[in-house]
Amino acid sequence: MRLFFKIVLGIFFLVFLALAIFLIPPHLQTQAVEPDLPSEQALRDLMSVEDGPIAVHYVLSASQDVRGSKLGHTSFLVEWANGTLFMIDAGMDAEGAAAFVELLKGIGGGGEGEFFGTVGDQLGSHLARVKGAGFTHLHIDHTQGITSFCETRGDGTALLQTDHQRDLHNFNTSEGAGLVTGSCLSRGALNGTELLTNETFPGLGLVALGGHTPGSTLFVVGLKDRLWLFSGDTTNTKADLLTNTGKGFVYSGLLVPENTGRTQKLRLWLRSLNKNDDIDVIVSHDLRALQASGMPQFGQ
Ligand SMILES: [Zn+2]
Repeated sequence: MRLFFKIVLGIFFLVFLALAIFLIPPHLQTQAVEPDLPSEQALRDLMSVEDGPIAVHYVLSASQDVRGSKLGHTSFLVEWANGTLFMIDAGMDAEGAAAFVELLKGIGGGGEGEFFGTVGDQLGSHLARVKGAGFTHLHIDHTQGITSFCETRGDGTALLQTDHQRDLHNFNTSEGAGLVTGSCLSRGALNGTELLTNETFPGLGLVALGGHTPGSTLFVVGLKDRLWLFSGDTTNTKADLLTNTGKGFVYSGLLVPENTGRTQKLRLWLRSLNKNDDIDVIVSHDLRALQASGMPQFGQ
């Protein structure tokens, strides 16, 4: 019995050691990403640039029931008067979405899923208008759709990406990073420090966030009368943002190595910005909150 106890203890120790060896490097990597954030005024300045964007739309590629709420896989399209579109996140194709449904069913809490078409399919004849693209982060559920997008779009879309997102990868961003690097997107230049911009897309800004992943990025869109902030997966629901609720140890410690001090800081920062009547924070996967925001769906 004593021997049996020792063997169990030994196995437990080895599993713990293997987990630690596997998880410590990505944790150290994401802990090191805490860049300065821009002021509210710097964000608001995007609302008054010349020839700024005229609208923002969302595209829903797939959804899944998760514990009574709707998890959406969304892309966002920023539109300018000259016809230019910028795409934030690429969603997934049918196969990727089906695999993700099974993943969430396996982890627990995931219900039935529905697929509505890739972002490329839903854009149809508007595809050639997409002159730029970027990703809130490189997890597969935000990047996998870029492959089918490129099959129909071909060249001509600039990738706006922070250096953090280009350079810092871990076990659950490297696959998406590979898809983006090998895609039809060609990297465009960014100017600025805390708030990064590109002159082809006036009124659009990028902020290096970190927290959820080392390369997590906030996309800021300044319409004349409204500022949209695309926070990716900094939180999984808008309610978690408004109540400053973290994702728990299993998620942030084991499944997705997060910088939880940073995500807490980001929740508070985004929540305070969201208190303004003319500023809306969009949480990538919270479909009901997205629909409540009043943002139109593309083509409708
Ligand atoms: Zn996600």
